[in-house]
Amino acid sequence: AKSEGRGMFRFFEPDMSARIQARRELELDLRQALGAGEFHLVFQPQVRAATEVLTGFETLLRWTHPARGAVSPAEFIPLAEETGLILPIGEWVLRGACMEAARWPDPIKVAVNLSPVQFKNRSLVAMVVNALAASGLPPHRLELEITEAVLLQKDDVTIAMLHELRALGIRISMDDFGVGYSSLSYLRSFPFDKIKIDRSFIADLDRNKDNAAIVRAMADLGTSLRIETTAEGVETPEQLAIVRACGCTEIQGYLISPPKPAADALDLIARLYRK
Ligand code: C2E
Ligand code: CA
Ligand code: CA
Ligand code: CA
Repeated sequence: AKSEGRGMFRFFEPDMSARIQARRELELDLRQALGAGEFHLVFQPQVRAATEVLTGFETLLRWTHPARGAVSPAEFIPLAEETGLILPIGEWVLRGACMEAARWPDPIKVAVNLSPVQFKNRSLVAMVVNALAASGLPPHRLELEITEAVLLQKDDVTIAMLHELRALGIRISMDDFGVGYSSLSYLRSFPFDKIKIDRSFIADLDRNKDNAAIVRAMADLGTSLRIETTAEGVETPEQLAIVRACGCTEIQGYLISPPKPAADALDLIARLYRK
C-alpha cells in the first residue's frame, strides 16, 4: 500500500507542479501588466428597455499580453484578487472610467465593478472621492457594481463604506442578481439603486418558461422597491421582447452592442442617446 501511495504521488506531482508553474508565470506577467500598459478599458452600453435610449455604460477591463494575447477577466481577475494586485488595478480602472465618462453628456452614467477585496482596503472611499475629483465627474453619474461576495462577511465596515459612498451621491448596483445563495437577504442589508439580473436567467428565456416567471418576479421586486432592474446578456430580439414584457427597466447585451473601446463609446452616444 505504501509503494502504491508513493506511486500515486509521483503520478500526480508533475501535473500539479506544471499547473502551479503556469499560475506563477501568469502572476509574474500580471504584476508587470499595469506598468507595461497592457490593460485597456472597454464600455458596454446600457439602454432603457422600453425605448432603447442610452442611460450609461459598464466599464470592463481588458488585458492584452504581448505573447499570450487577450487574457479573459474570468482568468486574471481571480488571480488579481488573490495577490492583492486588484487594488492598484481597480484604482486604475476607476480613474480611467471616470476620466472617460467626464467627456460624455450629463445624464450618461458609468458603471464600474468593485471586487470584495477592494472593500478590505480602508481607503476605498477616499480612493473613489479622489477619482471623482481628478476627473471632475459628478458623483450621480458614477455607479458601483458589487456582487453578493462583498456582503458575504456581513461586516459592519463594508456596509458603512457602502452607505458613505451612497451618501456622496454615488449609485450602488447589485450585480449577478439571483445566482448567489441569498440574494434576497442582501437586498435587505443595503438600499441598492439597481439590481442586475444575471445573464444565466436571460440566456434560455425563449426556451424556458420558468425563467420568464423568475425574471418577472425579479422585475416586480425592483418595481416594489422603486429601483432599476437591468437584464444582462440580452442577445436576441426574442429575449428583448420577453424582458420588456416582464417589466425590466434596462437592458445590456450583445443585441445592443458588445463592449467597445472608448472612441466607439462616443459614437454609440451619438447613435443611441436621445434616439
Ligand atoms: P460582469 O460584471 O457580470 O460583466 C458582464 C460580462 O458579460 C462581461 O464579460 C461582458 O462582456 C459579458 N456580456 C455582456 N453582454 C453579453 C451578452 O449579450 N452575451 C454574453 N455571452 N456575454 C455578455 P467580461 O468582460 O469577460 O467580464 C467577465 C467578468 O470579469 C465580469 O462579469 C466581472 O465580474 C469581471 N470584471 C471585468 N472587468 C472588471 C473590472 O474592471 N473589475 C472587476 N473587479 N471585475 C471585472
Ligand atoms: Ca512570461
Ligand atoms: Ca458587472
Ligand atoms: Ca453581471
